Amino acid sequence: MTAREVAAILREISQLLQLKGENAFKVRAYDLAADAFETLPPDPAAPGGLYERVAKGTLSELSGVGKAIDQKVTELVRNGKLEYLENLRREFPHGALDLVQIPGLGPRKAATLIRELDVSTLDELEKVAREGRVRGLKGFGEKTEQAILEGIIKVRARQGERKPLWETRPLAEQLLKRVQAAPGVTRAEIAGSIRRYAETNADIDIVAAAAAPEPVMEVFAVSPGVTEILARGGTKCSIRLRDGIQADLRVVTEAQFATALHHFTGSKQHHVKLRGIARTRGLSISEYGLARLEGGDSLQPASEEELYRLLGLAAVPPELREDLGEIELASSDTLPELVSIGDVRGYVHCHSTWSDGKATLEQMVRKAGELGAEFITVTDHSKAAHYANGLDLTRLSAQWDEIARVQELVPNVRILRGSEVDILENGSLDWPDSILEKMDVVICSVHQRFKLDIDKQTARIRRALEHPLCSIWGHPTGRYLGDRDPMPARWEELIEVAVERGVTIECNGTPHRLDFSADLLRIANRKKAKISLSVDAHSTKELENLHYAVGTARRGWTEKSRVVNARSAEGFLAALRK
Ligand SMILES: [Zn+2]
Ligand SMILES: [Zn+2]
Repeated sequence: MTAREVAAILREISQLLQLKGENAFKVRAYDLAADAFETLPPDPAAPGGLYERVAKGTLSELSGVGKAIDQKVTELVRNGKLEYLENLRREFPHGALDLVQIPGLGPRKAATLIRELDVSTLDELEKVAREGRVRGLKGFGEKTEQAILEGIIKVRARQGERKPLWETRPLAEQLLKRVQAAPGVTRAEIAGSIRRYAETNADIDIVAAAAAPEPVMEVFAVSPGVTEILARGGTKCSIRLRDGIQADLRVVTEAQFATALHHFTGSKQHHVKLRGIARTRGLSISEYGLARLEGGDSLQPASEEELYRLLGLAAVPPELREDLGEIELASSDTLPELVSIGDVRGYVHCHSTWSDGKATLEQMVRKAGELGAEFITVTDHSKAAHYANGLDLTRLSAQWDEIARVQELVPNVRILRGSEVDILENGSLDWPDSILEKMDVVICSVHQRFKLDIDKQTARIRRALEHPLCSIWGHPTGRYLGDRDPMPARWEELIEVAVERGVTIECNGTPHRLDFSADLLRIANRKKAKISLSVDAHSTKELENLHYAVGTARRGWTEKSRVVNARSAEGFLAALRK
């Protein structure tokens, strides 16, 4: 949870309270608190950030944050949900908050419309406004009615904006689970740009195979968080979820499944080129299968691999389907051998309660073992990261004692000793060389001073990468998807430095980071850089973020052979060496 998300939730509470007709004082308190949270750093683990404040109980030091809100936000951050909000949401029809979003309408008027005209969605409101029934209400006139109709168009446009993968993917996974458990479903998959691990997505697409579509759509249409059913036809159902995200389900027959999944996975550019290739082979592709242009039986490939084979191509993995040269390579059967999640044998970049993690070292190691890892790197923060409870020398040596103790308790997971070392403003590292020398893994990261100009920032990072004991370059650009842009630096030049100096580049799987991005990874891959698929886990749960690193790396054309943690612990250490 980030401070931005907390702010959005506080605003939602304020709006719900206004709908409820609560007094202006109480309502305003939530808006003021939301403003305060918006001023916090986007990275919740940053100095003065959300986690530090929750841990230290200093939220109420923020202006506008009183005791009641402090408690609510603490509950929200600790549990990921808030009882108070859930109860408030239950008091209003789904879609009520969409009405509040209409510019100039506001919660009070929205409440009147809901009460007097029994409307709860944009569509319903649009209908009564067109019928001229809004102007008759007290406090509304013809002008307001017109403004509402124009406002609805604006809200719809905003709802159509692309959303970050960290927001869409978990929702898609929840919907997928529901669909998979629906009556008669033989299989189902997430399709669309989420399947391709694009970092922003216009909507959620799910494809299911079942003999009878109706019962599946029935289950889908009443998923938790649905604010509106947008369309429902014979085989397709579209819903809108609470935060404006649209989700589409297509139900096809078992025989159509592979082509439908392929069709709805995209991308458009990839498909345009495939259709051209199909034509030269006398075929046409649709969501239902391949047809022969001169007529005759249509072909229904049983798998996507078979579909590509019918076109004379090697199977292109979903993450590569962007028309960036993958089709040409598929035709000569020279696609890169991408890393997959099963190849990864160790969790790299893990924090524990020694710094700002939420699980103890032993819990992290045991969980890594349960998930099948052969090794884990314990890389808590260094001293400069005081906001993240970074270690000093005394605590570092105490941590090493604990590592030795836990290693005896959990012999099947090799624990590698390391640190996530701050790159200081002048590019030096936050531990003396004599300490760095004793570590298996040294992850060097920027956590502060993101706003240096491009020359200073490039020089700062270059100096860190040139340090002989720097092994991994952590979350290189420092971006926070949707919240903080990459810092200014000459990335291509720095990639070259990393390659020359034998430094491994991180692909950080924190869903808000995905850093390096697929675009930069493609450059890193052209230059044959070594890559670490890191989790940057601050809890046992976050070890499960590995797939974000893998998906992003695959999208960035990352081959298994260059992934340092797609090896045994010994192999990993050897690969890090320069
Ligand atoms: Zn970090
Ligand atoms: Zn970290």
